[in-house]
Amino acid sequence: MDFRLTEEQRLIRDMVREFAREEIAPRAAEIDRTREFPRDTFRKCADLNLTGMMVPEEWGGTGLDSVSYVIAVEELSRACATTGVIISVNNSLYCDPVQRYGTDAQKERWLKPFALGEKIGCYCLTEPHAGSDAASLRTLAVREGDTWVLNGSKVFVTNGIAADCAIVFANTDRDKGNRGLTAFLVDRDTPGYSIGKHETKMGITASGSVEIVLDHVRLSDEHRLGAEGEGFKVAMSTLDGGRIGIAAQAVGIAQSALDHSLSYARERKAFGKPIAELQAIQFKLANMAVAVEASRMLTYRAAVAKDSGRRFSQESAMAKLMASEACVAATREAVQIYGGYGYINEYPVERLYRDAKITEIYEGTSEIQRVVIAAGLLKGE
Ligand SMILES: Cc1cc2nc3c(=O)[nH]c(=O)nc-3n(C[C@H](O)[C@H](O)[C@H](O)COP(=O)(O)OP(=O)(O)OC[C@H]3O[C@@H](n4cnc5c(N)ncnc54)[C@H](O)[C@@H]3O)c2cc1C
Repeated sequence: MDFRLTEEQRLIRDMVREFAREEIAPRAAEIDRTREFPRDTFRKCADLNLTGMMVPEEWGGTGLDSVSYVIAVEELSRACATTGVIISVNNSLYCDPVQRYGTDAQKERWLKPFALGEKIGCYCLTEPHAGSDAASLRTLAVREGDTWVLNGSKVFVTNGIAADCAIVFANTDRDKGNRGLTAFLVDRDTPGYSIGKHETKMGITASGSVEIVLDHVRLSDEHRLGAEGEGFKVAMSTLDGGRIGIAAQAVGIAQSALDHSLSYARERKAFGKPIAELQAIQFKLANMAVAVEASRMLTYRAAVAKDSGRRFSQESAMAKLMASEACVAATREAVQIYGGYGYINEYPVERLYRDAKITEIYEGTSEIQRVVIAAGLLKGE
């Protein structure tokens, strides 16, 4: 087993790290305050080929491995957690399922421009009454001759405010439970598609979370992604990959908490010496460093498992659970190390603490990750 990154992975890390430090970090506090979706940053990420990293080059992507992808999401999130999730959603929750389930004609229309970053994608599973229990969603798609008619509403849609196309999961057969769901590609300009409530959030404030309303949206079969009744499989397999992106986001936020804590502890003096000389502070720093490294290793392991082509639900759930809980703990300790200044929004750790929390909730809560992991254990996986 070789824990070293390849030459290519190191180059990607260095390139994204420099870009994030120069272009993204300086704007993180500003977009947190204005809550404006950073379209310009998305465009710059596209220029660096970060919007379709695992998509083959023939479909507009970069054709890289998943480890390169998680390295990039970590580095972006280390600078700005909002930017990290925007890029993660476009790569993992949008491009990935279109690549795996789309026909060539669908890939030409709904993958290429999105992998190139000319357009932005989003993923619509959650509804007001159905989050963890996704199979109970109520959006209906009813056949009328050659068309599907969709009615319903989706909530908390990341990138939703800017997205050009949404992957929408709808019920096409209410008697079949999770085998009655089907996925559809819905363009923003389709009549009946509209943006509803804009959510005001605790963290990742500029990630464009909105409600998407579908009011008699009429679609032909060419908009169906995957087979009829295959939607739950499309949704869940997509989340397996998405969770690796969120684990990487959590590693990046936690690494940032450690970076800031280290420099603050060296500068801040109490009782005549830098607080870095107090063992109480040193132990916090040591615990944070171990948690960040363990989370990173589980995240890389999940990425390698994904690329091996075998099932990787266990690995991705473990990585997301570990990294998100470590991230919340690390940012809490960073606020503590900063003392009163940690609670003031002029200092970066206040934002990190707010940004961290969502990693324990979206793409499956920590409780759901434990359900997945325990189910796998009991099946002998
Ligand atoms: C900022 C943000 C961005 C999001 N982005 C997207 C997006 O882009 N696309 C999308 O489709 N969704 C998105 N979501 C939705 C997100 O994935 C859900 O909020 C999440 O899965 C939890 O669902 P819920 O909110 O309905 O909570 P519920 O499912 O109602 O859960 C409530 C509580 O019960 C617990 N619980 C539920 N079921 C179980 C169980 N079986 N065992 C143990 N505990 C359980 C949960 O862990 C939680 O603590 C986003 C949410 C937020 C807040």
